[in-house]
Amino acid sequence: MNKDNITDIAVIGGGASGFAAAIEAKTILPTAKVVILEKLDRVGRKILATGNGRCNLSNINLSGDHYHGSVRNIMRVIGATPSATEFFGSLGVICTADSKGRIYPKSNSASTVLSALRLRAEDLGVIERCGFEANFIESTPQYFRISSASGEKYPCRRIIVAAGGYAAPQFGTDGSVIRLLRSKGCHTTKICPAVAALRVRPELLKGLKGVRAKGRVMAYSAGKLLKEEVGEIQFTDTALSGICVFNMAHLFSQYEGKLTLRLDLAADMELEQLVGYLRVIQYQRGKHTTEELLTGIFPRSLSSYITKRALGRPLTLLISELRENDLRQIAQLIKCLDFDVTGTAAWKDAQVTSGGVSGDCIDERLQLRSEKGIFLCGEILDVDGDCGGYNLQWAWSSGIFAGRSCADSLRGGRT
Ligand SMILES: Cc1cc2nc3c(=O)[nH]c(=O)nc-3n(C[C@H](O)[C@H](O)[C@H](O)COP(=O)(O)OP(=O)(O)OC[C@H]3O[C@@H](n4cnc5c(N)ncnc54)[C@H](O)[C@@H]3O)c2cc1C
Repeated sequence: MNKDNITDIAVIGGGASGFAAAIEAKTILPTAKVVILEKLDRVGRKILATGNGRCNLSNINLSGDHYHGSVRNIMRVIGATPSATEFFGSLGVICTADSKGRIYPKSNSASTVLSALRLRAEDLGVIERCGFEANFIESTPQYFRISSASGEKYPCRRIIVAAGGYAAPQFGTDGSVIRLLRSKGCHTTKICPAVAALRVRPELLKGLKGVRAKGRVMAYSAGKLLKEEVGEIQFTDTALSGICVFNMAHLFSQYEGKLTLRLDLAADMELEQLVGYLRVIQYQRGKHTTEELLTGIFPRSLSSYITKRALGRPLTLLISELRENDLRQIAQLIKCLDFDVTGTAAWKDAQVTSGGVSGDCIDERLQLRSEKGIFLCGEILDVDGDCGGYNLQWAWSSGIFAGRSCADSLRGGRT
């Protein structure tokens, strides 16, 4: 093999972490040949879809509490790399944060984020090679050879795997590279959709499709509170949705079959306060049917649903006929509306992958322990973050970190 035909660093995957890795590696080693191998006909398709097209690229409130998975040094990796605002500032992208700490490009446009990444990569001389679907990695004593689905071969000295997970396969991520890495001695943790809606028994959602309500969502398993969050809850005909539900989805893999979501739809009121409030309504609206009891508190379909589920009988009864115990049962249900979780949304509707290449397969430089010279970053690793910019932050940071580690190892001249 002619030495000149060997690429120094091949990055598998032209997404968020792949671009960050390629830019960092090429900045450190300007003369190195760095190539991004992307399976789709265009790079960065998922970046364009992030944050509803606005790209929520990070969050002011970064802490380990927002990350899940078996990779132990998540915050060390994030702390060792520039903040997203600094990184994108260096690419000419001005960032701003909203009232919840979510960081967006000031342009409010994901395409400016992708364009800035591509411009810097181009200026540095990073090569984009689209339509190359890596499906095999062969190791020789001197170099690696990545083969594509169509039989094309790419010899390279180092590999950075940035091919994402299983979530949103419409953007090129179908987990095929995770399967490929298993042949390189990697093992994976349990893999499930995360940042996704949670399915419950459809009969429990009858009449609620399209309803939105503010409240507290609590995830329980065997009576133990695992996590709680306040926000808008959305009901579909098969699932509970909304950001606060999305942030519970990662629990499904660990508590499958034993996870309950409890909604408190009057989080700002104590139970006794709520019962007292219902007594006042009963006094005021006594001659109306129970269908009107919660009018003014919830949308009509949610009011009927709660009253019917609490009383277990038709709503033709007059409000004046309700007993104290009925009012209490209704108040209790408003504060503890339970749904057993039966599954998560499908991969195409999930934003992130929970699980991936296990943390014990990589060293502190994000390099595979079983195969030196192969580095991993982004969602392919067993790291998933909450909704709010945490996943892209991991992609940028782990990409920069892997790019740096990879460049350093090449500088060390192993091959
Ligand atoms: C709709 C949607 C909205 C989101 N919004 C946000 C948000 O606002 N904020 C946030 O923090 N996170 C968000 N996320 C999550 C975030 O986009 C991902 O966590 C992040 O993009 C992961 O980066 P990555 O580099 O690991 O993988 P990706 O960005 O998914 O890139 C992987 C790339 O590898 C390519 N690839 C896959 N297999 C191969 C192969 N065999 N050969 C070559 N190339 C391959 C893919 O085509 C893809 O281009 C969102 C996700 C979705 C789906």
